[in-house]
Amino acid sequence: MIKILLLIILLAFFLSSCGVVPLTGRRQILLVSDQEVLSSSLTQYKDYIKAAPKSSSAAWSAMVTRVGKNMAAATTRYLRQNGLSGEIKNFSWEFNLVKDDQVNAFCMPGGKIVVYEGLMKIISSDDELAVVLGHEVAHAVAKHSNERMSQQMLTQYGAQILNHSLSEKNIAVQKLAGIVYGVGTQVGVMLPFSRKHESEADYMGLILMKMAGYNPDVAVAFWQKMASGSTGAAPALLSTHPSDAQRIRDIRKALPEIKAKY
Ligand SMILES: [Zn+2]
Repeated sequence: MIKILLLIILLAFFLSSCGVVPLTGRRQILLVSDQEVLSSSLTQYKDYIKAAPKSSSAAWSAMVTRVGKNMAAATTRYLRQNGLSGEIKNFSWEFNLVKDDQVNAFCMPGGKIVVYEGLMKIISSDDELAVVLGHEVAHAVAKHSNERMSQQMLTQYGAQILNHSLSEKNIAVQKLAGIVYGVGTQVGVMLPFSRKHESEADYMGLILMKMAGYNPDVAVAFWQKMASGSTGAAPALLSTHPSDAQRIRDIRKALPEIKAKY
């Protein structure tokens, strides 16, 4: 009897911690509260950005801010028009261009966008930058960090984490945040997302960039350019975002529907 009760409680907990990804409708398990994700990622972000050298290129900085603001506005508009206004408070957008030759960019939960100068060297238009930013913003909108932290939590602590006290849970979250974001370690950005998260971010990113008024068609040529090696020695962006044939095929397949619908 007690076992059954426990099972029911567990089940109820999992159902209540189920989220739905905007734009794709995929169900996901989110065991960490938005507040916990935001505060732990903000700590990581602040440490990183305090030490990161800012770009001295006014033109590139303006481009990052311009495209970033348009993507942020489209995201806010989408959330408001789709009954997700409650999510808007989770974003406090910031746009940074960092003096670093890595070809890379990321968006942390809370809308903290960071672009490296190395990426700007191979970006030839606002549309191309919107491909990358759309993808990165999509990871944040889809709460992929929370989902990954939740998965790690279950792997490392098992279901008993649910019985832990709040402070114990909070320590676990802080520890996981260090692993999940790992800013400054690895390739200088967050740990690679899973294949599923990558293709979801591609799909959502194309929609967001279309909503922001950019041309999603450039995505195919952009990822081909990245994969061709013409952009110099293996860009960091490729190590976390392999632009193989499958990825490009999926993008090509999604484009007609996205252009017709949004
Ligand atoms: Zn990604």
